[in-house]
Amino acid sequence: MIATVEINAWLRGEGFASPTAAAAARSVLEDAGLTNPRKRAMVASKVEPARALLAARLQRVCGAGRCRETARQSAAGRSQVEVPPASCEICGGSNNAAAAREMAAACVRAGVTRLLIVGGTRVLHAELKSLLAGSGVSLRCIDGAETTPSKKEALSDLAWADLMVIWASSPLPHKVSVSYTDECPPSVAKVTVRRRGIEALCGEVTASVSGAAAARRRA
Ligand SMILES: [Zn+2]
Repeated sequence: MIATVEINAWLRGEGFASPTAAAAARSVLEDAGLTNPRKRAMVASKVEPARALLAARLQRVCGAGRCRETARQSAAGRSQVEVPPASCEICGGSNNAAAAREMAAACVRAGVTRLLIVGGTRVLHAELKSLLAGSGVSLRCIDGAETTPSKKEALSDLAWADLMVIWASSPLPHKVSVSYTDECPPSVAKVTVRRRGIEALCGEVTASVSGAAAARRRA
């Protein structure tokens, strides 16, 4: 017996949950000859080609405005299809992921690709790094509670950075923050974040770089 999958159930599992989304996905498969309107099942060997084709043609995005806007910038010719947040390419149902992608897109647009984060814990730094992997934005993070960088180290971090974030809500001894703020050259933009959490940090950086880019356009 040849293994088959039930097409509608498979599409639901791929995130095409609403009738509109399922119809959009189905018509992509039909146009490519992977199925036809009469069929309810397809052979299992077509699953991988079907998955690749759907990924190339359709962009799965949840209903959040932030995700839709970020997705538009990485659409690469694909049409947006609304899916539940857990299947969203941008956030996967996570506010932190959505905020990080939005920040990365805004930073790249503004030509800001090196972020120096002063403050925050190792766990937060690791999560932020993994959320930004492949985004074009790189991070250097200073855990002020665990290390006390020398003035020379602070200068070298600042020479590397396009933008410095002082994450003031987190454990950040004054002597650490001051060694960065005192030495910060005018060429490095500075954002102070007083709220906790990755979503808050990303939101404030996004607002800052978007505002700065808009001001440059007006000038
Ligand atoms: Zn989303």
